Amino acid sequence: MAETTSFTIEQFYKFIEKGKLMSVRCTECGKVMLPPKPICDECLSDKLEWKQLAPRGKLETYTVIHVAPTQFQSLAPYAVGIVKLQDGLKLPGIIKNVAFEDLHIGMELEIEFDASLPSKWPIWPRYYFKPI
Ligand SMILES: [Zn+2]
Repeated sequence: MAETTSFTIEQFYKFIEKGKLMSVRCTECGKVMLPPKPICDECLSDKLEWKQLAPRGKLETYTVIHVAPTQFQSLAPYAVGIVKLQDGLKLPGIIKNVAFEDLHIGMELEIEFDASLPSKWPIWPRYYFKPI
């Protein structure tokens, strides 16, 4: 059960590389955490398990980046947003495949896993959101 060994951000991104969006679920109280933590922040239990999430949700807020950090300069301008997933968890990410003027709060987005995005461990995720 290699997937249950370490509840770390690094492991989270290893799942992302495999095309899986994973959260950590506390088996004591049922709290689901994203990003993962080694101890439940609700009941402090360390009895945890990985739980795969449905990779879609609704756009909660967004902004368009014109002046990007070095790693993302080739992408600018681009949109970033926070998406509220179906499970109620929130995940930030770049939004692609949509014109800026068509972005709106509440729009349905899904995650696309993309090895072409800049990936400088441990900071840059290899996924983006796109309209469904
Ligand atoms: Zn708990």
